Amino acid sequence: MACRIVRRLWFLSCRQIESVTGLRAGDIFKTLQRDLSDERRLVDQIYFSKATTRREMLRAASFLMRGSALAGFMPHALLAGAQAAAAGKAQTPSPASPADPVEQMKAQMAGVPLQTLKLRDNIQMLYGPGGNMVVLDGPDGKILVDSSFASVAPKVKRALDEISDTPFKMLINTHWHFDHTDGNVAMHQFGATILAHENTRKRLSTPQVTEFFNMHFPPSPAEALPRQTFTDSFKLYFDKEEISLAHFSPAHTDSDIYVHYQTSNVLHMGDTLFGGMYPFFDSSTGGKIDGMIAAATRGISLADDSTKIVPGHGPAGDKAALTKYRDMLVAIRDRIKKQKDAGKTLKEVIAAKPTADFDAAWGAGFLMPDAFVTLVYTTL
Ligand SMILES: [Zn+2]
Repeated sequence: MACRIVRRLWFLSCRQIESVTGLRAGDIFKTLQRDLSDERRLVDQIYFSKATTRREMLRAASFLMRGSALAGFMPHALLAGAQAAAAGKAQTPSPASPADPVEQMKAQMAGVPLQTLKLRDNIQMLYGPGGNMVVLDGPDGKILVDSSFASVAPKVKRALDEISDTPFKMLINTHWHFDHTDGNVAMHQFGATILAHENTRKRLSTPQVTEFFNMHFPPSPAEALPRQTFTDSFKLYFDKEEISLAHFSPAHTDSDIYVHYQTSNVLHMGDTLFGGMYPFFDSSTGGKIDGMIAAATRGISLADDSTKIVPGHGPAGDKAALTKYRDMLVAIRDRIKKQKDAGKTLKEVIAAKPTADFDAAWGAGFLMPDAFVTLVYTTL
């Protein structure tokens, strides 16, 4: 196991190791040097300070995200590259690929099909590239939740127009992440007013870093920023629909809200819920495992047996599925916390495989088990 960790980390710089694991590189080196004296050569500073290649970064990406194309987060082409690189196959870098992985991801998402699923007569889910979107349509017009990537905006507009010819009135962002807000400028240009939590506006207004993926985001243009914000809760009455929006205490980020269509009994949980996969939470911008558990518990309290529940990524589910997800998070959090409180290192906790009995069901959708354990351990 120790050798596997070293093999996975040796090619990364200190900064990149910190990004991938969420740990201070110095702490990792200390652990490795203490526990792996025969591998000392591999943790020498020389190895960590050398320049990395695209192929090496793709191997790191593969460590983190085996099935992330399913989650609409990473384009399939990039993911296939990561998996091929991890398997040691030769890579032919695309000559057209921009250097910045964020820009590359935005561009490549244009090729992912956008699909529509009817949740109720007046409510549809749009899914495929980026975070799951929900459209409410009626005589008063349309309200869309989340805007995916800018490169997907023409498809989103086409999907909205195919639903009906009512005007596109409002866009709600569930949180600040780019796979839910990159399309904001286009939606603003299509005529929508943007509504979100105050922290979504704050984070979109300023440079952001998501350290776990080493992703850097410049401030968004003014047209992308929410014009209406709230801090605790907000109520909308649209056609016959009564819509409750409320802030989760920091969970996936510090800007998460849910959107509860109370009349139609549909609940959009944003990225506090990943359907059928270990979730990511962004500790650089307030995310934490305890908040994820609290958010799931709050969602369960809002739902009944016929509520349709939309996750930020993955398929729509119900209260039973959300309860199973919450119980999985609690079990894994408790196991990791117990071991961490007992003084176990991250390496020891990963080796103990605290997620083993959950991995078949949850470990192939987005974060791989070791990456999820790392995320939970380092944020407890
Ligand atoms: Zn997110």
